[in-house]
This record gives sequence, structure tokens and C-alpha cells, in this order.
Amino acid sequence: MFVAQETWGLPGQEVATRQLINTLKSGRKGHAYVFSGPAGVGKEKAALIFSQALNCLQEEAAPCGHCTSCRKYASGNHPGLITITPESASLKIDQIRELQKQLGLKIWEGRYRTVIIKGSEFMTAEAGNAFLKILEEPRPGTVFILLCENINALIPTVLSRCQRVLFSGLPQQVIIEKLVIKGYPQTKVEVAARLADGSLSEAEKIVQSDDVWKLRKDSLDYLSECAGASTKDVLLELAADINSRSDCSEIIKWFLVWLHDILIWKKTANKKLLFNPDFRNEIDSFSKSEGLTELLEKIWKTQYLMQKNINSHLALEVLLIDINSRLVPQKRRNS
Ligand SMILES: [Zn+2]
Repeated sequence: MFVAQETWGLPGQEVATRQLINTLKSGRKGHAYVFSGPAGVGKEKAALIFSQALNCLQEEAAPCGHCTSCRKYASGNHPGLITITPESASLKIDQIRELQKQLGLKIWEGRYRTVIIKGSEFMTAEAGNAFLKILEEPRPGTVFILLCENINALIPTVLSRCQRVLFSGLPQQVIIEKLVIKGYPQTKVEVAARLADGSLSEAEKIVQSDDVWKLRKDSLDYLSECAGASTKDVLLELAADINSRSDCSEIIKWFLVWLHDILIWKKTANKKLLFNPDFRNEIDSFSKSEGLTELLEKIWKTQYLMQKNINSHLALEVLLIDINSRLVPQKRRNS
């Protein structure tokens, strides 16, 4: 694998890359690191490159890709690399015990033995305590790299023994370019990149999922019907319909996204700031509405109440009546 010396081929991760390169150059390697940041921004790739560079015979800022050690990494056969992935929703104590056994075997190849732990925030309390014991007895030449999306969910005593490397969300443009190269349609990619909050893998999931696009359309239809309803009965029927859906809470989330777009469009008329630029005409048709900030707050409140299992049907009825009173669709304005 050829790796660019200065960037490691990780766009948008200059800070993290620089920190790791400085570590490699300094000769003072830590014995445990946490790589944290959104999914799909290159944490795992960085962990592999770091691990490879630690053992590269050229000892440069990036693995040379040619030496025996690098070639073994490229074929996935380097005996000094151990990777642990949560077997189910959590990382269990048995996996840590197994790791402990492996670490007890003294012989490995290369200067460093690296242990990459994926989903490290999913360690059970038991597994975390067992892992803490491993961290407390550093073995020379062994480097741990914990990968996590949510650093706040990591066991604090484990976190306090690790050096932190923060990975940022990817810029939208980078996500768009990467997904367009993969052959996904530009329009969908642009929307997904905005919704994915800097995560490439999340953006790809959105592009691939039929559900997301159907939800987006359904939620907009609901908003339009609600805004255009002329009797309370129609609103109550709509509320019952939304409430009967298993993805009811997702519809409410999408209401927030649409409201965001209507507000932004009304204030800036800048298509680039919209989550759904491909629906600009529909968004524009609502932009003469008033009291949108208050409405946004009401939707948030409804979402909160629904999460707390308060009577969701009733909360929805109240919300739809509110939407109807504030959101003015184009055709009603003209009549
Ligand atoms: Zn090498």
C-alpha cells in the first residue's frame, strides 16, 4: 500500500495525521491511544497506517510499502497486529480474556505489536475492568489503539490512560466527491452529505437506503397536507395516520429538517444552505409562513414528549393543529 507521507491519504484529517506523524518522528511512542470521531472518516485506516509505520523498516513518517514488514501488512498477515471487533452489540469480557492470553505469548515479529480495538465504547463494565488491568501493566513494545465514535461513552478510567487523537467530520465536499466517484447520483449524494454530519459511511448508508428517501417524501407530503387542511377532522385523521406508522418518530425528525430548510430559505434564499436543495420549489412555497421558529420549537418539544412515551397520538394532534395554523402553502395563499 502506498501512503502519502504528509496526508496518509486521509482528506480532512490533517490535525490527527500531523499528531500521529509527530509521534512517529519523536521516538516517544505512547502505549495507548484513543482515535475518536464520526463513523467513516478514516480512523481505522489511520490505525492501520500508524501500526504499519511503527514497524516499517524505513522508519519514515509513513510506511514505505516495500519492506518485508510493509508487505506483510499489505497481505493482512503481519503477526504483530491484533484486531478486536465487538462480537455483538457489546465487547465482552471473553474477548478481553482472549486478548490477555495472546499478549502473554512473548514472541512476535517487528519492533511493535499493535492491538486495534474497534467499537471500544461498547466494552461491558466487566470487559472494561479487565482491559484496565492490561493497560495498567504496560508491556514494552505493545501499543493499543482504541477506536470509538462516542468518546463520552468510553469507560473514563480507560480513557484517562490513553492519548487522544481526534478525527473531525469530513467536509461535505469531500463526502460528495468520494460518493460521486463511486457512481452514486449527484442529487442524492448532495442531500446525503448534508444529513450525514461529516460521516462518509453514514452518507453512503443514506444514499443506499430506499427507506430514507421514501421517508423524506412522505414527511413532506404530510407537511403539505397538514398545511393545506381546511377542517380539524382532516388534521385528526392525518395525526392518526402518522401515529400508526412504526417510523412515526422518523417522520417527526424529518419535519425538523424541512422546517430548518423553510426557515433558512426564508432568511437567506441560499440553495447551498438547504438540506434538500432538490426540493427548493416546495420549500419556497412555504416561505411566506410566519412563526416558524416557534413551530420548530414545538416540533422539538413533540419529539421530546414522544421519546418520553407521553401519549404520542395526542402530542401529534396538537402539533398538526399548530403546523396548520402557521404553515401557509402556496395554493392557499393564492386562493
Ligand atoms: Zn516499510
